[in-house]
Amino acid sequence: MMRVQILGYSGGFPAAKRPTSGYLLKTKNHNILIDCGSGVLSELTRIMDPENIDAIILTHWHQDHISDLGVFGYLMQMKKADGFDIHSIPVYCPAEPQIIRVRYENDPNFSFHTYSSDTIIDWGDLHVSFYKTIHPVECYAVRADYFGSRFVYTSDTSYDPMIIDFVRDSNLLIVDAGALESHRKEKMLHSTPTEWRDIYLKSGSKRVVLSHLIPYYDVSDTVAEAAALGIWHFELPKIGEEYIVSGGQVT
Ligand SMILES: [Zn+2]
Repeated sequence: MMRVQILGYSGGFPAAKRPTSGYLLKTKNHNILIDCGSGVLSELTRIMDPENIDAIILTHWHQDHISDLGVFGYLMQMKKADGFDIHSIPVYCPAEPQIIRVRYENDPNFSFHTYSSDTIIDWGDLHVSFYKTIHPVECYAVRADYFGSRFVYTSDTSYDPMIIDFVRDSNLLIVDAGALESHRKEKMLHSTPTEWRDIYLKSGSKRVVLSHLIPYYDVSDTVAEAAALGIWHFELPKIGEEYIVSGGQVT
């Protein structure tokens, strides 16, 4: 059984009680933090001692996905100095942009491992793979397969119909729906509910959560756009919400 818990879903910057991107992936043997945005460490402490995380996956080096990594390092450093048994945590991340990555790479509390599109991380029965998205910096969607259940988190991407194969048959699909058709611009950094509906339906995914919501957009506008498209089972994220992905089902 795989569990996914939402620790943060704001896009760009946090709102009150709404951290930016962070998702906790839990299996019998592993606790994996996917993205570590602003406020995520605080939410993680409600669930577990952060130093017991087995690994961190960063989808890209934008601040709304990484900014709590710095204070995470302080937590480890302070506990180590206070006699706690602290071991460095592996961080899986893209190579670029180096100018941002290098600021974190010397933190001895983490060990950094570069991944790319052809990387597959095998943690026993948990297999994690990556898909390069369309974003201004190197960025990847993350797919976790565990005993026939599939979880995909798209991270940030503008509309990309080619992602369908990567998200196909996912039991839980968390997407970047940080854009709105009513605010459409010539160049879009994020995708709209309208664009995700098409991909969701074609991919055969079971459950879709519209995430990476921008704090200065009204959530009701996201809901209104999605609902106007007809019947489809989109959901909105909630901080602390846990999804159980098991045997092809998600509850
Ligand atoms: Zn981004």
